[in-house]
Amino acid sequence: MSTREWDVVIVGAGPAGSATAARLVSSGHRVLLLDREEFPRPKPCGECLSPAAVDALGSLGALPLVRAAPHVPIVGWRILPHEANAFTGSFPDEGEGIGIARVTLDPILVELARRRGADVRIGARVVDLLREEGRVVGVKLGGRGASEEIRARLVVGADGLRSVVVRRLGLLRRAPRLRKLALTAHLEGVAPLDFRGEMHLFPWGCVGLAAVGGGRTNVSVVTTGDEKRALAGLRDDYFDAVVARTPVLSGGRRVTGVLATGPFDWPTRSAVADGALLVGDAAGYYDPFTGQGVYRALHGAALAAAAAHAALESGDTSAAALAGYERARRRAFSSSERLQHAIEALVSRPGLMRVLSKRLTARPALADALVAVTGDVRPVRSLFSPRLLASVLV
Ligand SMILES: Cc1cc2nc3c(=O)[nH]c(=O)nc-3n(C[C@H](O)[C@H](O)[C@H](O)COP(=O)(O)OP(=O)(O)OC[C@H]3O[C@@H](n4cnc5c(N)ncnc54)[C@H](O)[C@@H]3O)c2cc1C
Repeated sequence: MSTREWDVVIVGAGPAGSATAARLVSSGHRVLLLDREEFPRPKPCGECLSPAAVDALGSLGALPLVRAAPHVPIVGWRILPHEANAFTGSFPDEGEGIGIARVTLDPILVELARRRGADVRIGARVVDLLREEGRVVGVKLGGRGASEEIRARLVVGADGLRSVVVRRLGLLRRAPRLRKLALTAHLEGVAPLDFRGEMHLFPWGCVGLAAVGGGRTNVSVVTTGDEKRALAGLRDDYFDAVVARTPVLSGGRRVTGVLATGPFDWPTRSAVADGALLVGDAAGYYDPFTGQGVYRALHGAALAAAAAHAALESGDTSAAALAGYERARRRAFSSSERLQHAIEALVSRPGLMRVLSKRLTARPALADALVAVTGDVRPVRSLFSPRLLASVLV
């Protein structure tokens, strides 16, 4: 057992964990950041950062490092519904997104946390939580015959979907639903995308495209959970078959392995517990369609770090002392979560989608407004302005 007690142990060095670590060491806390993987590690992701995620990288102080790495600016989205009009939406002038591979982005953020003063241990898998009198007082590492206990005043679960911290805390609201699965890989040789992400919708799911720099395009195939059996052991064949029948990808050559992930729908009851809090996907995730996950991870990290700092300073890291974080998360994310559900309902109804895409093609301002909201540049309520609503109805 380690005799040292850390102020904070963070489980998971994805964007949420690294950003929380960088912020907390900057506030003077002793932080240990753990990840089970070696970096760079691939992460199934559309790799398209919204303008709000770019701003969040700026407020973290990471943007110059990100801009110095291979990336592609993204000015908006082109949506191509099945057998209906395609439409294009642009981010507002003040906001630009970025396409960047996670094997590039994530190590930059880990390194930022390390340079600010966090201790980073990679290849360290957390298997359980330490508890005393009902509260979390640390984590237990395991795997490959090794076992170690690490004590901390606060444990942050930033370990993504299938979070072990969430499961050990018993905070999963219900079992995850396998509504969808995703397969992602990089292709070279795809025709340039005009600095936009593209989403191709089909009755069976969708294919998302984003240039990520270095001549590569991220291709994310999202299909229904019913395909689970077809995918078992056949993910490369399945992915390559989708690429072969998607005209815009003709000429593309897969240059990475295919990563599979799902289910995405991991709802939590709360993001705080006595001695612990959750951030990023671990705090709850629904669906990758609108590509807001990295923003939620980075902005959530800012909210988590502020709450953790206040709790550590007061000497009280109970759930009650951390409750303000739970409320701040709800204020920040609940309206975009409702919008995600609404968009999913629309996209799964081709008839409705045909009507809507006609309107959006004819009224580019409406498409821009939708893209601005899903890029977290404008609040969801901006979609309900009388002027915009009138333009939908006439
Ligand atoms: C198909 C798909 C497409 C997506 N597309 C986009 C997109 O285009 N844009 C966007 O913004 N978001 C997108 N997202 C969402 C985005 O990928 C996530 O929201 C984001 O990665 C969340 O960051 P995180 O730090 O919370 O978790 P992660 O990035 O998952 O990091 C979690 C880390 O925890 C580590 N870990 C896990 N368990 C343990 C353990 N027991 N011990 C130690 N370490 C552990 C993992 O190794 C990992 O490094 C997409 C998601 C999917 C599935």
